[in-house]
Amino acid sequence: MATLAPAPLAFTHIAHPARVPDATRVEALKDPGFGKLYSDHMVTIDWSEDAGWHDATVGPLQPISLHPAAAVLHYAQEIFEGLKAYRLADGAMALFRPQANAARFNSSARRLAMPELPEDVFVAACRELVAVDRDWFPSVEGGSLYLRPFMIATEAFLGVRPAKQYKFIIIASPAGNYFKSGAPAVSIWVSQYTRAAPGGTGAAKCGGNYAASLVPQAEALERGHDQVVFLDAEEHKWIEELGGMNLYFVFDDGSLVTPALTGTILPGITRDSLLTLAREEGLTVREERYSIDQWRADAQSGRLVETFACGTAAVVTPVGKVTDPIDGEFVIGSGGPGQLTGRLRQRLVAIQRGDVPDTHDWVMRLD
Ligand SMILES: *Cc1c(COP(=O)(O)O)cnc(C)c1O
Repeated sequence: MATLAPAPLAFTHIAHPARVPDATRVEALKDPGFGKLYSDHMVTIDWSEDAGWHDATVGPLQPISLHPAAAVLHYAQEIFEGLKAYRLADGAMALFRPQANAARFNSSARRLAMPELPEDVFVAACRELVAVDRDWFPSVEGGSLYLRPFMIATEAFLGVRPAKQYKFIIIASPAGNYFKSGAPAVSIWVSQYTRAAPGGTGAAKCGGNYAASLVPQAEALERGHDQVVFLDAEEHKWIEELGGMNLYFVFDDGSLVTPALTGTILPGITRDSLLTLAREEGLTVREERYSIDQWRADAQSGRLVETFACGTAAVVTPVGKVTDPIDGEFVIGSGGPGQLTGRLRQRLVAIQRGDVPDTHDWVMRLD
């Protein structure tokens, strides 16, 4: 057992007694896919009302045992994050804006009546896991080690109130290159379902939002579409986001629009990074409401030339076609990936991989 003390909380290290054999791991890492392989270890930190955050451990990845009355199983007190460890051009490992994930995690925690985890502990925990399981970094070009921090309410109590015990966990999952030279354009189904309503949990990264998006997403797939776009709950008119990605619209004068963060949209870190990069390029970016009718009209008139979705997993995904169950289909630009979409993606990826200077202090080197 070794102990590192980067923050107020010291992590206890327990090495896995039976790690995945080297040959098996190396073979699996040739085609990691997404979200189906897991590294040997996990971080766990417990919280209770009396002791606060305690027992920070980097130990073997293993099932967690919960009382059947654990609050998370009944009232869905659960939040999560998603970020990637990258390998820089010089071979060092790095995280991209982990403090932003830590801050968003706490804002989700507040909405779900859960305790906040100090941001430095969140970041230290990510670093600890990457350090222990760096052998799980995939060998494939453009691969990454996807980190999934999350928190669950573990208290056994069936009354409805915020739980008094929680567990914070981070697991790591090697991920392949989603798309080598940029994603192919996706087709989008405009959902009649609602993802988030004013005053609800739309801006929190909680599992419950995803549970509610599964039927709409399945419906999109059934109708032959890749993804679903959600409109606002009140007027069913204003474009919000996809099930797990934010949207950008590109116009023929070079300006961009992304829906404003009104409380029903998840504040994506990719969205925020692209906002900065686009403004730096001298582009006009407006954060404002944009309606489904305007989207169709602008696509048909040629005023709108590109649309893309963005998020940590696939970085930037072009939208080629949109189908509204009432008004039918429309195509965006050529129907394929657009120029600005490709350029912004390249710039962001170049920063994440350390190919260009990190002028925003976004990249945290781990070694
Ligand atoms: C996580 C997430 C995003 C994208 O956020 P990033 O920080 O860019 O990965 C967008 N929408 C929803 C609903 C999400 O959960």
